[in-house]
Amino acid sequence: MLVTNLYCNYACYYCIQQKSSLDVRKNPKKIDVDGVLKFLQRNRIARTVSVMGGEATLHPDFDKLIEGLLRLYRKVVITTNLNGRWYKEFPATLAKMKRWGRKIQWNTTCHPAWIEPELYIERVRKIRAAGLRLKQVATPDTKDLTEEISEKLCRADIGWKVQILTGRDETGRMVPQSMDDVNGKYELEFNPAKYIEHYDEYVEECEDASHEGNHAREEMVRCVTSRFLIGPDNMVYPCHRHLYMADQSYACGIVDDLKMKNFRFKWSAIFRRWTLHCKTRCNPCDFRVVKTASV
Ligand code: SF4
Ligand code: SF4
Repeated sequence: MLVTNLYCNYACYYCIQQKSSLDVRKNPKKIDVDGVLKFLQRNRIARTVSVMGGEATLHPDFDKLIEGLLRLYRKVVITTNLNGRWYKEFPATLAKMKRWGRKIQWNTTCHPAWIEPELYIERVRKIRAAGLRLKQVATPDTKDLTEEISEKLCRADIGWKVQILTGRDETGRMVPQSMDDVNGKYELEFNPAKYIEHYDEYVEECEDASHEGNHAREEMVRCVTSRFLIGPDNMVYPCHRHLYMADQSYACGIVDDLKMKNFRFKWSAIFRRWTLHCKTRCNPCDFRVVKTASV
């Protein structure tokens, strides 16, 4: 997975990438596209690759990155808020998306504080009408999603879904940590056991991720994580927690190290995972790919 940059055209209050003291969404770092492509050409980590931000389309070399990835992978998954300068001249953008074709899967999120639902619906429809693969059409369950907006999105018949919020509540606390954090308004969609694998363990593992709080675990754990994340600082990380904190003591290595010779942790190409010892608590978005055991 490539986290091309953390900056974003939006500033959602519930963003998981927001720190209380230093907002990572303002982090100006961005991946070096040539370096990352070279690394991926040498190291075939997976058959598909995911691209996300912040808002990845804001990366100045976004087009070059995608064209390079299309040469290397049979499938490229792009997560985007479907807004911002890359989409401004929409007909031209759509023509480019068509040229890239169906090897790309577009996962989109509508954040109602920043885009009119009508504009989002129109773009989703145009992308689909162009024959492209657009899978996720969703909005996180927050106070920004009013009944009126959800009705519009629902009635548009575009396969729109409400997402369980994995982010911050209005007080800045990371949620969900328990069933009480799950908004009961949309009960049918929000059965956490359905949306979050190992939900029971998740409740135990998650924590208040506020940077004023304490990230440390009480005891060291052995972590087996299958996240292979390249961050905007061109470092490889085993999870979002350490990537967002730019915690280089847990960075596995740097993309310039093409043979991964000096990588601190070993990536198992057979099991497709890292094994490392960690004394930090996980981010909710990492939990699904992590198994930990006390050491
Ligand atoms: S669009 Fe996504 S990355 Fe950007 S601020 Fe909102 S939640 Fe964060
Ligand atoms: S235990 Fe959690 S925070 Fe530590 S490396 Fe694993 S996923 Fe990251």
